[in-house]
Amino acid sequence: MVYHEKTQPEPPCLAAERAKKKGTYNCEGVVTQLKADFKNKCYICEQKEPTSINIEHFKSRKGDKNLRLDWNNLFYCCGHCNNTKLAKTIYDSILNCTIKEHGVDTRIKYEIKPFPKEKALITALEDTPEVQNTAHLLNAVYNGIDTEQKQIEAANLRSDLLKEIKLFGDLLFDFDDDTLDSDEKERVKGIIIRHLRSSSKFTAFKRWIIRDNEVLKADFKEYI
Ligand SMILES: [Zn+2]
Repeated sequence: MVYHEKTQPEPPCLAAERAKKKGTYNCEGVVTQLKADFKNKCYICEQKEPTSINIEHFKSRKGDKNLRLDWNNLFYCCGHCNNTKLAKTIYDSILNCTIKEHGVDTRIKYEIKPFPKEKALITALEDTPEVQNTAHLLNAVYNGIDTEQKQIEAANLRSDLLKEIKLFGDLLFDFDDDTLDSDEKERVKGIIIRHLRSSSKFTAFKRWIIRDNEVLKADFKEYI
């Protein structure tokens, strides 16, 4: 999970929908704006270009019309993560990735070893309920909960995550290759920087690889 800035003001159709008795939050332009704001990534698992898109209510909308049609409460999410989040009420109180101060990628540590069949290691770095609940949710998303279907979905997600981390690791090895000339090194550096942007897949994991390595941190600290 990484920070995403939400466009303001809200898409114009939402005000009109709020004036109706049974307005819809999925009115013209909403999902397109969410796609742009969240860089076409599920905000929870950071999978890019998800094939199943859910407009998620960050805070549960149960019976609350204002929350249901509140632009700041609408998030871009994949089906796997939306279902996982809905399963437990503690997930109503998690860090908000659209508020920079919530520090969603620095108050939680994201790791996975680049070997097949590895589980993701999600560590809460603070003992506050929001941080603990967010880490709990991320652990469920990446490593699966008790149902067979969720285990398979999580394993498929990790397979995509592992491929991306392996690719990123190869770039870091290339960057460290002394046989590269300065132009080649700059080119590799540029690609690594793109991988550290919020628009990249699984950015939180990549940023932690840099944070955990003093040498790399010196080269890329302004991008994490
Ligand atoms: Zn997801």
